[in-house]
Amino acid sequence: MFTLDGGEGEGGGQILRTALACSLLTGEPLHIRRIRAGRAKPGLLRQHLTATLAAAEVGEAQVEGAHLGSTELRFTPRTIRGGERRFAVGTAGSAGLVLQTVLPALLKAPEASVLTLEGGTHNPSAPPFDALNDVFVPALARLGAQVTLGLTRHGFFPAGGGRFTAKITPSDLHPTRWLKRGALLRTEAIVLSAKVPPEVGERALECAGRLLDIPAEDRLLIPCPTSPGPGLALMLRLTSESGVEVFTVFGEKGVRVEQLIHRLVGQARVFLSLDAPVGEHLADQLLLPLVMAGGGEIRVAAVSSHTRTNAEVLTRLLGASIRFVDEPEGARVVVEAKRG
Ligand code: ATP
Repeated sequence: MFTLDGGEGEGGGQILRTALACSLLTGEPLHIRRIRAGRAKPGLLRQHLTATLAAAEVGEAQVEGAHLGSTELRFTPRTIRGGERRFAVGTAGSAGLVLQTVLPALLKAPEASVLTLEGGTHNPSAPPFDALNDVFVPALARLGAQVTLGLTRHGFFPAGGGRFTAKITPSDLHPTRWLKRGALLRTEAIVLSAKVPPEVGERALECAGRLLDIPAEDRLLIPCPTSPGPGLALMLRLTSESGVEVFTVFGEKGVRVEQLIHRLVGQARVFLSLDAPVGEHLADQLLLPLVMAGGGEIRVAAVSSHTRTNAEVLTRLLGASIRFVDEPEGARVVVEAKRG
């Protein structure tokens, strides 16, 4: 039985998602208390509840405490089943974080899965679809995981209503070393714009293009006509010799897009000042796959408290060893899975 205090460390939803994923992978029942105690509104929000119910469906699990606002859960999985499923958050809560919860187990299912995920596809504090598709999925592929995503409708905070599919083929993951970013080959500025005047996006692209010397063909304004609500996502996609990183900021009422672009460019410049192939967010998303792969080493641009908390949960539940070694090019993260 895994017993966990969900308020430790970062005290957010990641502890729950990682714990559910570990419970599914090992078949070990989970008892978690003080869920999201570190957050202003603790307990299960719609996104966490959907993730819990999705995990229960995939694991044919018995669950107690799966209701909105709940701060305690008992989760007893029986098996892992792939197949076709639809998980809908019902609000703008991140559909990507629902995927993050069940994906590890579905890579170990006896059959392939086709998931339809509905909710937010582009919201702050969660991986935007583009980061999942262009950064996370290719990083998983380095470890041997076969996953393909397809976006059918953008869903921005606060209206939500987005939809994407995930095809997951059961895969054996292998240990990986990924320590150098290499030269920057291409910088693209991308604006996703839903129900926002096109001039706003054009100004953002002009500003990003000027600051980073981006040629006109790599400045893309993408209208999102089927998005149920308004939204503006400003993104930089950096392609380096060893992979892609995506940075995103979202439009904010009363904040000029030029100011947002300066913030975005600042994030990209910090990343480019190091030779780490793995950005801050990918770092915490890759820890569990690396443990599943039997270990590995990655160099990360920043180690967040989110990543450290995730590492602690994986150490506690799966007996993994995860070390952070500070080095001038970026922190080296050394992951060793428990033997046997
Ligand atoms: P909550 O308790 O509100 O659910 P949380 O701890 O689960 O909080 P966050 O810390 O905000 O949520 O992060 C959730 C996940 O989203 C993490 O895996 C994080 O790396 C990822 N994430 C957040 N922002 C981005 C981004 N801009 N690009 C890619 N991934 C992101």
